[in-house]
Amino acid sequence: MGITIDGKEIAKAIKEEIKHFVHETKKEKGLNPTVVSILVGEDAGSQYYQNNQAKIAESLDISFIKKQFNEDISQHELIEYILKCNKDESIQGIMMLVPLPKHIDEKEVTNLIAPEKDLDCLTDVCMGKLYKSDKIFYPCTPNSVVTILEKMNIPLEGKEVVVIGRSNIVGKPLAQMLLDKNATITICHSKTVNLKEVTKRADILISAIGRPKYINQEYIKQGAVVIDVGTSSLNGKITGDIDFDDVKDKASYITPVPGGVGALTTTLLFKNLCEAIKKCF
Ligand code: NAP
Repeated sequence: MGITIDGKEIAKAIKEEIKHFVHETKKEKGLNPTVVSILVGEDAGSQYYQNNQAKIAESLDISFIKKQFNEDISQHELIEYILKCNKDESIQGIMMLVPLPKHIDEKEVTNLIAPEKDLDCLTDVCMGKLYKSDKIFYPCTPNSVVTILEKMNIPLEGKEVVVIGRSNIVGKPLAQMLLDKNATITICHSKTVNLKEVTKRADILISAIGRPKYINQEYIKQGAVVIDVGTSSLNGKITGDIDFDDVKDKASYITPVPGGVGALTTTLLFKNLCEAIKKCF
C-alpha cells in the first residue's frame, strides 16, 4: 500500500516556521505582522473560510483584521477601502474572498490590490510575474501541491507530471511552478482525448477537476505519486477526485481528502505574509 501523505503534519511544521518568523519580526523590527481579510456579503462558504483564516492567524500570533461589508456595498466604496489598505503601512497583506456579488466587477476590483500585498495572487501583476518565473507570491493551492511534493522529498526534475485541470487558480499556475522545477508537464482538461492513456504515463498525477472519485486505478501507473486537489460534496461528505480506496495500493504516495492539499492552503497564505514582510518592510 502507498504512503498516505499527512497534509496536517506538513502544515504543522510550516506553522512553526511562521511563528518563529513572526516572533523575530516583532522583536527585531518592532513590526506587528497584520493582514486584512475582506468579505462582501454572507456567502456561507466564504464566512467559514474567513473564520478559519482568523483562527489560524491567531494561532500564529498574526494580527487579523476581519472586514465584512454588506452585500449591497458599491464598487466605488469597496475600491476606496482597498486603496486605503494599500497605503496603510501597518497592513502587510490583503486577502479578498471571492466570488464577489454580481454588481461588482471582480477582476477590476481584485486587480487594485497592491501586488506586494496580494497574498492570494489575485492580481494580473502577481500572476504575470509567476509565468515569467519571477514570482512575487506563489498562489496557495498550487503551492500546497508543490510544498507537499518537496516536503516528502519526491523528486520533480525530469519527471513526467500530468495535471488534470486548467483553471487559472489551480491547473495553469501549478503547471508553471512544476515546469520551473524542471518537470515535464502535460495538462489535461475536459476535451482531452483518451485521458487514461495520458494519465497512465505520469510519474506524478495531480487531479484538480472537482468530480468525486472520478479517477480510479485504471488511470494510474503502478507506483505513481497521486495528488488530489479536488473537493466536492458527495453524500454530504467532502470528497476528492481520486477514488482513494481503489487507488491506494497502486500508488507509491497518495494524498487524502480531507487532510491532504487543502490542509495546507490557508497556512501558506500566512507564509506569503512572511515573504511580503521580508521583501518590503
Ligand atoms: P474549475 O475552474 O471548475 O476547473 C476544473 C478543470 O477540470 C477544468 O479545466 C475542466 O476542463 C477540467 N475537467 C472537468 N471535468 C473533467 C474531466 N472529466 N476530465 C478532464 N478534465 C476535466 O475548478 P478549479 O477551481 O480549478 O478547482 C478544481 C477542484 O479543486 C475543485 O474540486 C475545487 O473545489 C478544488 N479546489 C481545492 C482547493 C483546496 O485548497 N484543496 C483550492 C481550490 C480548488 P475544461 O477547462 O475543459 O472545462
